[in-house]
Amino acid sequence: MSTYSKELEVAQLAVQRASILTKKVFHEKAKGTVSKDDASPVTIGDFGAQALIIQAIKKNFPGDQIVGEEEASTLRNDIKLRDQIWAFVRETTLTDANAEKIVGGPIETVDAMLDAIDAGNSAGGSKGRIWALDPIDGTKGFLRGGQYAVCLALMVDGDVKVGVLGCPNLPIDDAAPLTAESGVDQTDAEGKGVLFSAVSGQGATSRPLGTAGLGKSKSIQMKPVEDITQATFCESVEAGHSSHGDQHAIVTKLGVTKPSVRMDSQAKYGSIARGAGDIYLRLPVSATYQEKIWDHAAGDLIVREAGGQVTDTLGRRLDFSKGRTLQENKGVVAAPKAVHGQVLEVVKEVLAKK
Ligand code: AMP
Ligand code: MG
Repeated sequence: MSTYSKELEVAQLAVQRASILTKKVFHEKAKGTVSKDDASPVTIGDFGAQALIIQAIKKNFPGDQIVGEEEASTLRNDIKLRDQIWAFVRETTLTDANAEKIVGGPIETVDAMLDAIDAGNSAGGSKGRIWALDPIDGTKGFLRGGQYAVCLALMVDGDVKVGVLGCPNLPIDDAAPLTAESGVDQTDAEGKGVLFSAVSGQGATSRPLGTAGLGKSKSIQMKPVEDITQATFCESVEAGHSSHGDQHAIVTKLGVTKPSVRMDSQAKYGSIARGAGDIYLRLPVSATYQEKIWDHAAGDLIVREAGGQVTDTLGRRLDFSKGRTLQENKGVVAAPKAVHGQVLEVVKEVLAKK
């Protein structure tokens, strides 16, 4: 067995199972008629997906720590919310019995669900095995029927070793190029739903995001950029997460004419890793904001394993060993290795002028 093959299998199936839950929550709570007593679909989906994923990790790797975005303290006092989440968690299973067994089977009680959510309380750091989990990355995209991702990565001594991204609203087809429409209203229709994965030193893959066991995987690579002016750049939908103005200045300086494709979540990392797009920039809006490790760990590894280079806007590797945030980094520049230097230079120039 190759290194981390068990971790990879558990992570992929756990993300796949959690994605079944998020899709169900979207269809029943975000799209359907929402009653006044209902909690936000994001809240239900976030907590539910976190519980299912942590359950799978704890059953398989009981000694591992988890840095999760959510914590359950408010839930313990909010019985109505807790029960709404439980209703989704208890009925979410992989339809392949063996796959469901690998992720540890169903969570047995409400208390076990709350304990699982709480287990995401690790402070992170540079020692030992720590999972970084974002149960719904891109919550705004999730609500809009745009892009979102269920994100899970294993770090060992501060280095990302395994990364998995479940993207229910991206096309299965790796060859489908990004367009302005890619980030908007792409609700998991026919042909949608992809699971990206990577293991350090072993390359990156994509496969359909199903509801049973794992589908057949394909190796993915970034597309070589022959002419930077023709490259497809991507950025956040939210101008509060990445500066649209700076991005515009950078791409203009590089001679790029195509508008950047806007999409929520780490779906941006997955999309450039498989060559559907080329370059992802995340340009700091606030001087004090620290990026969260769960927003980048899986995507960073998947892009690097697909032939890319990922740094911050000053050219430093993303450092996941500093706790729950990337406190030693500012923003992100993710691009194919061959053009990363050229892009970074212009990023530095434009940001220095501010
Ligand atoms: P995206 O979908 O790429 O816009 O990124 C979504 C993530 O942005 C969320 O998971 C938040 O953790 C993160 N976020 C929140 N505020 C900021 C901020 N001011 N700058 C950068 N990222 C942020
Ligand atoms: Mg997030």
